[in-house]
Amino acid sequence: MPSSVAQDVRVWLEENWRADTTLREWWRRLAGSGWAFPSWPTGHGGKGLALGDARSVTQELAAAGAVGPPGGLGQMMGGPVIIEHGSDDQRDRWLLPLAAGLESWCQLFSEPGAGSDLASLQTKAVRDGDVWIVSGQKVWTSGARTADRGMLVARTHPEAPKHKGITYFVIDMDQPGVEVRPLRQMDGGATFNEVFFTEAVVPHDQVVGEPSNGWVVAVSTLAYERQGLGGGAGPRPTLAGAPGERNGFLDRKVSELLAEAAERRGEQAAMMASQSFSAMASLARERGRSEDPAVRQGLARLRALGEAHRMSGLRARAAAGAGKMPGPEVSTGKLVTSELGRRARDLSLAIEGAHGMLAGEDAPEAGRFQQMALRVQATSIAGGTDEIQRNIIGERVLGLPREPQVDRDVPFKELAVGTQRGERR
Ligand SMILES: Cc1cc2nc3c(=O)[nH]c(=O)nc-3n(C[C@H](O)[C@H](O)[C@H](O)COP(=O)(O)OP(=O)(O)OC[C@H]3O[C@@H](n4cnc5c(N)ncnc54)[C@H](O)[C@@H]3O)c2cc1C
Repeated sequence: MPSSVAQDVRVWLEENWRADTTLREWWRRLAGSGWAFPSWPTGHGGKGLALGDARSVTQELAAAGAVGPPGGLGQMMGGPVIIEHGSDDQRDRWLLPLAAGLESWCQLFSEPGAGSDLASLQTKAVRDGDVWIVSGQKVWTSGARTADRGMLVARTHPEAPKHKGITYFVIDMDQPGVEVRPLRQMDGGATFNEVFFTEAVVPHDQVVGEPSNGWVVAVSTLAYERQGLGGGAGPRPTLAGAPGERNGFLDRKVSELLAEAAERRGEQAAMMASQSFSAMASLARERGRSEDPAVRQGLARLRALGEAHRMSGLRARAAAGAGKMPGPEVSTGKLVTSELGRRARDLSLAIEGAHGMLAGEDAPEAGRFQQMALRVQATSIAGGTDEIQRNIIGERVLGLPREPQVDRDVPFKELAVGTQRGERR
């Protein structure tokens, strides 16, 4: 029996889904109906439904071949954070434009000296009447070049201990005090950026939560990030176009974007498959290496860990389906994903031997294993590094003593050599 939510979406889609319109118009309709982000409040792109109901919405959109809601960090983390910590005015101002894909947001958290230890951040903001003046540097900011706004954490109270003097802002990116410089990655792409703030301005009414209490808002942002990266319970965003004017998709025909998305999905699938056991086994056969004992052992190890990982995933999904809270399998899952990527990288390049040093069209299979080898590193860093996952497993799963944090209660301005150097510059 389909749920009544599923039935309602189906009826709505029959009347409203059209591929011959622009993306802007389709997302406007989806957000206006509340089916874009069903768990968001009514009138703000949602219907105030439970998170679980969002799954049936995703399924119905996919079954109708309809374009899903806009995806991006603003939609994945910004919206939920504003719902949880923002003011009524902020909810009125930002939620509907996010739900309708009119805005793209980036995450201005990491700095050259603050990644895993985010609370050591040094970008500062000083209040000047109705505005705050921001100076400092962020790094690894995905999508900053096309973002309209950024979720920014900055130090506003250096006399307080490091977790207590941070304020959370939503900053407008298109202003003279914000400079975005792309970083070239080793795989040839440039999705990351450095962002420099030189007396950039944020109105006081764009502070989320209370000034100097931004750590709580940052922690909740990271929780929504983990939830989103792990597949989440929310609606699945579309590959057919990205939100925000600067990404340039809003006035394109939905039918064209769907065709392009189908192609990209194929490329993504091929990239994912490059890490799989079957891709490795067929590479070994093609290169005449499948009788090599070292290669066979590598293949067996990859298969064994891959199967254990798959089964842990099934167990986690079954537990979630039965309404149980996530357990240790979630903590170990990310770690195993990183390890599988590394094993696939090492094994594929070992099978290719000297040909592993070639790139692009000169390499076996047009260099797809080389590209994979250059990208797998990201998994063990993004969303918390492997070492940080091990700390979490040690402390929260194995019950080991907590890592000592000698600087937790010390005023930030009295901390670390790096901080003093930063302030002198
Ligand atoms: C694909 C991708 C996308 C990203 N997008 C964004 C983005 O949009 N916005 C943003 O703000 N950031 C983004 N990041 C940055 C990311 O959050 C950081 O890279 C990550 O938190 C690690 O911080 P770091 O690079 O400063 O490394 P560091 O924290 O300096 O760590 C360096 C090394 O020390 C280890 N280490 C650190 N602390 C400990 C400890 N307590 N115990 C044991 N070992 C430790 C780490 O595991 C690591 O090996 C992105 C990163 C990636 C890979």
